[in-house]
Amino acid sequence: MGIQNILFILVFAFAVVLFTKNVRKVIRNIRLGMPLDRTDRKAERWKLMLKVALGQSKMVVRPIPAILHLFVYVGFVIINIEILEIIIDGFFGTHRVFAPLLGSFYNFLIGSFEVLALLVLVGVVAFFARRNFIYIKRFRQKDLDGWPKSDANIILITEVFLMSAFLVMNSTDAILQTRMVEHYSQAGWFPISNLLVPAFSHLSTEALIMIERGTWWFHILGILAFLNYLVYSKHFHIILAFPNVWYANLEAKGRIRNMPEVANEVKRMMDPSAVVPEPEGAVKFGARDVHDLSWKSLLDAYTCTECGRCTSECPANITGKLLSPRLVMMKTRDRLEEVGRNIDKNKGQFVPDGKSLLHDYISPEELWACTTCNACVQACPVNIDPLSIIIDLRRQLVMEESAPPPALASMFSNMENNGAPWQYGQADRLKWTEE
Ligand code: SF4
Ligand code: SF4
Repeated sequence: MGIQNILFILVFAFAVVLFTKNVRKVIRNIRLGMPLDRTDRKAERWKLMLKVALGQSKMVVRPIPAILHLFVYVGFVIINIEILEIIIDGFFGTHRVFAPLLGSFYNFLIGSFEVLALLVLVGVVAFFARRNFIYIKRFRQKDLDGWPKSDANIILITEVFLMSAFLVMNSTDAILQTRMVEHYSQAGWFPISNLLVPAFSHLSTEALIMIERGTWWFHILGILAFLNYLVYSKHFHIILAFPNVWYANLEAKGRIRNMPEVANEVKRMMDPSAVVPEPEGAVKFGARDVHDLSWKSLLDAYTCTECGRCTSECPANITGKLLSPRLVMMKTRDRLEEVGRNIDKNKGQFVPDGKSLLHDYISPEELWACTTCNACVQACPVNIDPLSIIIDLRRQLVMEESAPPPALASMFSNMENNGAPWQYGQADRLKWTEE
């Protein structure tokens, strides 16, 4: 086993261990949320996942980005099948280990990967231009100022480098094969990288081997770095979109989740003999911080792609209100990650830091701008539900902090005093019939 193989095994093991460690932290953070059962109607859930996450059915509403996204998504996922071969070659020092096993099908596979690599390049260059040079409101809103904008660009540029390295690697490999250089067995069909051959064919064999090895290492190190970067990036949706859609809410939109604490209390008041479960411990109404949201809302926060389709459909945002459902998701993730770092720092225990999602991250003004229309939920390509976070935070404001907006406050006191939302006493209800 050569030094290159040993180095590769060490780097690979380090990347996998680091990725596993970070994913475990994400799972722990999601589990901080409140329980919610989303394991019913399994057949429907599998169907939905195949349609929305794999089939990207909600992307087609905007056909051009949908096609570009399909290039990047399909290309990137399928080309990475080749990673398996690269890993085996890296472990054992072989060259294109699958070629003898797959025969002529191997050539077809490599050819298809190259075409897909070209399509990925077209897709990411177009996305970069859309984000940076063309005016599209949802990419220019202040939600994306700072890190979110850089995050999107970093990934697009990385993909350009990774795909270019893949094509240069194949191109130099093809030349080395034709020169019958030892180790470079005859394998593969290179319809795209062959176009690059004239740029390299004048180089010496030593220089070609250096470029081929250099791009091989760059490609695999880039993929391993990308894998670890995912956890810190909006691009985590590549993985999380699947479970997120599977666990999506299957109830009709607009059907608001009941609060058993309130329902049981009402049942007790209406019928003192009713048998209802007693609450365990202190009852909390709504959510003040990420711990009080359901685990699904926290998974939503990690899955958000920051695409802004929700915000671009939100009537509150369109009419200039402070609310942006995309920002609700981004702030929930920011707070959740802050809570996670607090737990890491304090040996597995969350130490109160005097902050909360409500007020410190999301203001009542944003929350009360929501019309609960569900347009954001409908628009989201990965079935995220910003509205359920908004409702949970509002419940906290009304039921724990007694801080509804003034218009609702007078309605609540009318309901309490008059049994109706209007300002008239019950005795005056039929006065209108007198005339
Ligand atoms: S439900 Fe609220 S946040 Fe979502 S689109 Fe409607 S107004 Fe905007
Ligand atoms: S919630 Fe959905 S639609 Fe909104 S930014 Fe995130 S991924 Fe896009």
